Amino acid sequence: MASPSSISNWDDEADVIIVGYGMAGACAAIEAREADSNADVLVIEKMSEDMAGGNARVSGQSLLVGKNPEALAAYQRAMSAANPVPEDMLQGWAERMADLEPWIMERADEAGLKYSVGSGWSDGDAVLEFPEFGASEAVTHQSTILPTPSGVWLTMKGCAENRKPRFKFEMPLVDLVQDPDTLEVLGVVCGPEGARQAIKARRGVILACGGYENNLDMQRNYYGFTNAYPLGTPGNTGDGIKVLQKAGADMWHMRNRGQSGGIWPGFKVPDFEGGFLRNTLFTAFSWIDIAADDQRFYNETEHLHQTHYKFRHHGTWADVPLHLAQPVHMIFDDVTRQNMCLVTKFMSWTTVVNRYRWADDNQPEVDKGWISSAETIEELAEKIDRKPASVLETVNQFNSASTAGIDEQFGRTPATLSAISQGPFYAIEVVPTIVCTSGGAKRTIESEVLGHDGKCIPRLYEAGELGSMISDLYQNGSYLTEAMISGRAAGRNAVGLSAWAD
Ligand SMILES: Cc1cc2nc3c(=O)[nH]c(=O)nc-3n(C[C@H](O)[C@H](O)[C@H](O)COP(=O)(O)OP(=O)(O)OC[C@H]3O[C@@H](n4cnc5c(N)ncnc54)[C@H](O)[C@@H]3O)c2cc1C
Repeated sequence: MASPSSISNWDDEADVIIVGYGMAGACAAIEAREADSNADVLVIEKMSEDMAGGNARVSGQSLLVGKNPEALAAYQRAMSAANPVPEDMLQGWAERMADLEPWIMERADEAGLKYSVGSGWSDGDAVLEFPEFGASEAVTHQSTILPTPSGVWLTMKGCAENRKPRFKFEMPLVDLVQDPDTLEVLGVVCGPEGARQAIKARRGVILACGGYENNLDMQRNYYGFTNAYPLGTPGNTGDGIKVLQKAGADMWHMRNRGQSGGIWPGFKVPDFEGGFLRNTLFTAFSWIDIAADDQRFYNETEHLHQTHYKFRHHGTWADVPLHLAQPVHMIFDDVTRQNMCLVTKFMSWTTVVNRYRWADDNQPEVDKGWISSAETIEELAEKIDRKPASVLETVNQFNSASTAGIDEQFGRTPATLSAISQGPFYAIEVVPTIVCTSGGAKRTIESEVLGHDGKCIPRLYEAGELGSMISDLYQNGSYLTEAMISGRAAGRNAVGLSAWAD
C-alpha cells in the first residue's frame, strides 16, 4: 500500500475509480452512473483502447439464466461442496441471478443487439453440466447476445459508454493509497513505470481487473502447472491479487478444481503470446493424444467441453490430466488434417483480437512448421523427439481398436475410432490453456472486500473473476453473469458513499 503521506500531490481525482474495463468494470460503470448521473466515474484500464475488453471480449458469450432462486442456491451449494461458499452470499447471488435476465435483455435492446436463447455454441437451450447436483432444476437456459463473437461484451461496452464515464487507457493499477491504520482506501497509484500518477478516489475504488491466467509464475505457485497459456487477454496477470495482498485482504479460491473454468487442450505457436483453443466440435476422428510416455491417457473425443474438462473418475469429478501428462502431442493423419480445423475460431484472444485465421484444412499451419509432418509415424516421432517404436505401438493399438470397433482402454465410441492410416502423418503439441481463475479477496454479496479480521476494508470493492464466488465446480455461463451481478453491486455501493474529508 502507499500511505497518504507518500503522495505529495494528486494528479487527478474522481468520485469512483473502476480498475479494469472488462465485463465487471463495464457493469460497474453502468450502475454507478445510473445510480448517480452527477458522479465522476473514472475507468482505468491497463491495455490500450483497442486491446481493452478483457476475457469478456473473447469469451464464449454464454450466459446462465436461472429463474428459481432456491434451485440455483442448491445447485451452486452442491458444486461448491469441496470449498463451501458462505450461505448469505449464496442466497444473495441466487436471488440476483434469478432477476438478471430482464436487465440483460434491456441492455441488449439499448445497444441495438439481438438477445438470443441458447449458448450459441451447443445444441439445445441449456448445457447442464452436473445433473446430479440439480442442474436441470437450476438452469432455465443459456443465452447470448449476437453478433458472434463478442456480442455480450459489445452490449455492456456500448451501455457503459452511453453513460459517459471517463476512461484512461494504458493506465495499469500498481497500488492503492490507504490509511495504514484503518486501511481506508483513498485513491490509486497507476500508470506505466516512469509515468506514475496518483489519483484520488473521493468515494471508493472498485477492483475489476480479472484473474491471473497470463501469469505463469502464479499458475505454477497457486495451481501447480508446469506450463499454461491464457485463452483470454494478455492483460490478466494477477495484478489485482498482488494489490489486494498488500492491502490486507483475506484471499480465497486461489486453487479450485481446474481453476473452475477447466484445463482446456490448446496449442501454443511461436508467433503468438496466448494459446489457441483446440476445436471442441470434432469433425474427424483419425487422431489421438499421447502423453510424455507416448501412451494415450484419456478419452479424447468425449464431450468434455460440456463439463469444463472435468470427467467422472472413481465416482467423483476430476480434471482431465492434461497438465499431468506433459508433454502431450496430438497425432493425426491426412484425413483429419483435411477435414477438421484444429482450432475454435469464435473465442480466444488469438482468433478474436489478434485475428489469426487458422485455415480449415490446416495446411498453412503445416507449411509454417507449427504442425510437424512426416511420411511415416516413426519419422514423425523422431521429429517431435519421441521414441519411434513406442509411438508406432500406440498408433497401432489405436488402429486395432478402430478395426475392432471397441476402445477397451478409454471407451471412445465406435463412431470416433477412425484409423490413423492415411499419410502424411502430423503432430502438434497440446498444452493446457486457461479460460479463467477465481482467486482474489473474499468479498460480500455487496462486493465489499474483506480483511483478515472479517471486516470490510473501507471504500474497497472487488468484482468479476478477481475474487469470484465460484469456488470449485462450474456451470457454464456463471462467470459472465457473476461479473454483471458483482460489478453492478460494486458500482451502486461505491457511488452511494459520501466523499472522505481531506
Ligand atoms: C476463451 C474464454 C471463453 C469463456 N467463455 C465464457 C462463457 O461462455 N461464459 C461465461 O460466463 N464466462 C466465460 N469466460 C469467462 C469470462 O469471460 C470471464 O470470467 C469474465 O470476462 C470476467 O470478467 P472480469 O471483468 O472479471 O474480467 P475481464 O473481462 O478479463 O476484464 C479484466 C480487465 O482488467 C484489465 N486489467 C488487468 N490488470 C489491470 C491493471 N493492473 N490495471 C488496470 N486494468 C487491468 C484487463 O486488461 C481486462 O481488460 C470465458 C473466458 C475465456 C478466456
